Amino acid sequence: MSIFIPDSETKLYGLLGETLSHSISPSLHNNGFRDLGINAVYLMLETKKQDLEGYINSLKTLGFAGWNVTIPYKESIIPYLNGFSSLARASGAVNTVLNRRGRLTGYNTDVIGFQRQVEEAGVKVKDKRAVVIGAGGAARAVIAALIQLDLKDITIINRTVENAEELAKLFREENSKQNFDFCSLKEQEYGELLKAADLVVDTTPVGMYSNDIKNIVINPDYLHEEQLVIDLVYNPLKTKILQEAEKRGAQVGNGLPTLIYQAEASFKLWTQEMPPKKKWYQIAEKAVGEIEAKDDAVD
Ligand code: NAP
Repeated sequence: MSIFIPDSETKLYGLLGETLSHSISPSLHNNGFRDLGINAVYLMLETKKQDLEGYINSLKTLGFAGWNVTIPYKESIIPYLNGFSSLARASGAVNTVLNRRGRLTGYNTDVIGFQRQVEEAGVKVKDKRAVVIGAGGAARAVIAALIQLDLKDITIINRTVENAEELAKLFREENSKQNFDFCSLKEQEYGELLKAADLVVDTTPVGMYSNDIKNIVINPDYLHEEQLVIDLVYNPLKTKILQEAEKRGAQVGNGLPTLIYQAEASFKLWTQEMPPKKKWYQIAEKAVGEIEAKDDAVD
């Protein structure tokens, strides 16, 4: 195995977030750089909320060429940026930054990633109904993608109903072709909406491995065989909601394709080159396996 040694020409990239120990992104991007002979490195950029502004200034001073943004900074980074892509603007969230001589532009490649995942699932979603569970940064990207995909009705279900209401209002103001609705996580409110949905997307972290893997955010009895059910979580690869949806005959998908496609779009934006996507899937699946094994050892 050859060791990469950075020099004065090495371009710097990374992932900006609060807690990053489980992230797969460094493995993907660094593998892409090595495979394509690009003199660049992708680092973990962990900082606390109160230090965000100073940290971003440091990244600029150090000449970082770009970085990804994850929980909890996808919205809070916005005031520090100089410009936005149309998808970042539409979603109100940024997961990728490009630094052009100190001028920072925000992009949202999660939107592209999720849109491609749905397109590749081969399900016709134009003019159909979607239920999005959760109202955070990931939900914003998913809803922006659903608008690109021309869905007709989009309902946001959330634990804090006020956050769902706010998000529905925001998207309603900007998009007249779709109907936006919202409701709480009370079964008597969401049950029939969930049953009537063609596409159900769980954007909450509830099914994540570090939580209780038996956790499920909704009662799955409203899921059925005519639906596509996607959980944005990819660790574990099959969360409880996907297991239950599959039992009821639904087509299911985990968050891995969105992860890979968003990373691919960021990589292309930074380097103008296409990374080896097939290899990235293998790396991601291996990394998830290793995280699961480590967590098992801890539990
Ligand atoms: P976020 O901004 O913190 O939002 C989390 C949302 O989940 C909020 O609406 C929150 O509800 C809800 N929630 C959290 N815990 C809950 C619980 N115990 N029960 C019910 N609802 C709960 O996070 P995010 O950026 O949207 O990310 C969410 C998940 O998506 C994470 O697991 C992340 O890893 C995943 N993700 C995956 C990809 C991918 O490429 N596959 C991309 C982006 C995100 P409240 O409003 O009530 O707090």
